[in-house]
Amino acid sequence: MQGSSFITLKKEALHNNIKFLKKKLGTHVRISSVVKANAYGHGIEQIVPLLENEGVDHFSVFDFTEGVRVQNSLKNNKGIMIMGWIADENIVETIKRGIEFYIFNIDRLRVALEAAIEIGIKAKIHLEVETGMNRSGLTIKELEEAISIIKNNPGIFEVKGFCTHLAGAESISNHVRIQKQLKTYHKLHRVLENSGVIPEYRHVANSAAAFVYPKSRLDMVRIGIMQYGFWSSTETFLRYTHRDKDPLQRILGWRSQIMSIKEVKKGEFVGYGISFLAQANIKTALIPVGYSGGYSRSLSNRGRVLINGQRCGIIGMVNMNMIIANVTELPDVKVDDDVVIIGMQGKREIKVSAFSDIAESLNYEILTHLPDNVERVVI
Ligand SMILES: *Cc1c(COP(=O)(O)O)cnc(C)c1O
Repeated sequence: MQGSSFITLKKEALHNNIKFLKKKLGTHVRISSVVKANAYGHGIEQIVPLLENEGVDHFSVFDFTEGVRVQNSLKNNKGIMIMGWIADENIVETIKRGIEFYIFNIDRLRVALEAAIEIGIKAKIHLEVETGMNRSGLTIKELEEAISIIKNNPGIFEVKGFCTHLAGAESISNHVRIQKQLKTYHKLHRVLENSGVIPEYRHVANSAAAFVYPKSRLDMVRIGIMQYGFWSSTETFLRYTHRDKDPLQRILGWRSQIMSIKEVKKGEFVGYGISFLAQANIKTALIPVGYSGGYSRSLSNRGRVLINGQRCGIIGMVNMNMIIANVTELPDVKVDDDVVIIGMQGKREIKVSAFSDIAESLNYEILTHLPDNVERVVI
């Protein structure tokens, strides 16, 4: 290990998750694998080839740079869809590369039109409609305008998809709003089809919607968090099954090692300031990971790591590059011993969710804060 920590990716767990998703979603529903935010912190360059091996043939990202990274990570040509940001000057390149992209307003459609005419290559577009999230998407008026632009410029656009995003399918409290959104979506879809423009894929569902609202699966689902082995929320999991056995497996682990060990006398403070006072003689281990490496400062005096198969509490403040763990109870502990920050060691496990409960944030947030420059190893 050259770096101070590394991330492990369990191939077998990904295989399990994709198999589960395919079985539950059915063969007629295409899975678009969402790998935005560096594949939810897992690493685009590592995860995309694994997904390709599992037979995934469509990928969703947020921006142009991620789209290019996905394309460069694939062995064979697959569908890639940019759901968000593309600078105007990158539209030509996006079309040349055959990457699909969202049309969420008329400006974007006009830029795409000009670019496609200029280079003489069809733009592969997904028309995103506004159905009640009020974030992005064409209103009914804009949809009608978009339709007339598409029809007045035959041979310029390939309408790959017609889509929207649901505002919080992972919580029952949004049920009424989601139902309204689905209704609006279908109404807008009729407007499109009546005009004679037939999209190849209708898609609205993320992980939560695909499981909580099976009718929302349509032709394609955009699955992010579940392929990495997490449910969108505890509620989503409980709605799926009340058995406590989780059919999903987490792919990601995060490990470091002990850099140094120290004895601290009763009555001494440990680390910066006075947040930790040794109540007895203790033994501490220094671990070379800190908030600059993705270990949240809010885990100061609260986080836990696994060393020698045991849980050890973090004492004192999380530093920029280091944390200190209490290893008083580990008689055989020594420098270079493995430290598990996320994942299994022996019978014990530190889950991302345990991590995120303490840090009061979502699995999504913890994962995507994992630094890009930490080595990823497929195991
Ligand atoms: C991130 C995202 C998804 C995937 O969401 P998950 O909850 O991770 O499955 C789907 N659609 C859009 C538009 C997204 O931005």
